[in-house]
Amino acid sequence: MNSIFSIRKEIIEICRLIYTRGLVTATDGNISARIGENEILITPSGKNKGMVEVQDLVVIDLQGKKISGIMQPSGEYRIHTMIYQQRPDINAVVHAHPPYATAFSVAGISLMQCVLPEIILTIGAVPLAEYATLYTEELASSIEKYIKDYNAVLLKNHGVVTIGNDLLCAYHRMEKVEHMAKIIYLARTLGNIDVLTKEQIDSLMKVRESLGLSSISLCDTCENMCGIKSSKNNI
Ligand code: 13P
Ligand code: ZN
Repeated sequence: MNSIFSIRKEIIEICRLIYTRGLVTATDGNISARIGENEILITPSGKNKGMVEVQDLVVIDLQGKKISGIMQPSGEYRIHTMIYQQRPDINAVVHAHPPYATAFSVAGISLMQCVLPEIILTIGAVPLAEYATLYTEELASSIEKYIKDYNAVLLKNHGVVTIGNDLLCAYHRMEKVEHMAKIIYLARTLGNIDVLTKEQIDSLMKVRESLGLSSISLCDTCENMCGIKSSKNNI
């Protein structure tokens, strides 16, 4: 694991990236990273992600108790602590409100279909969690059943959560989910979406194997077709 100082700097870089790339606006979103067995670093609540400074970051334990920091931790700390408890393989969590992916959540449409090979290789399917009020235990619970098997989840009428074995991986997944949502949105406006065939998905899974990656969760249809079961992956 990197030094805590370099993790702090990396969180700030990713705060800037999610803000400048329009994946959040104003004070939206939160980012965290695991820094110990029972401790994480998390962004402060209510601060513009383009303006967060190293000294604003807060250390909390996995029970949500503040260990150090001047500011209050993100009000969504329950999502973050739940994920680190459920997924020991995960070291970073990014929550944002990217416009295209969030529009799918508002429309009630998941991103489960196998459409883009790159997404199948690096993320898998993206389910849509049931609606729950922000900052509550219910919101963390609505994500819990998906986060065991998936690397990204749409939050109904809210935004997206992505996870990774490091900050860059979790951030890249956020960018990729938004890019995929934009492409699917555009294809929908063109009037047609061709999902990949079983043969095309089988071939992609062989590429995953050749890269030394374990199986990945795809959509229900593909799981039936390919027999692919859940797993916990990172690229
Ligand atoms: P915080 O500013 O408390 O992290 O909340 C932002 C957010 O996205 C709420 O869902
Ligand atoms: Zn949010």
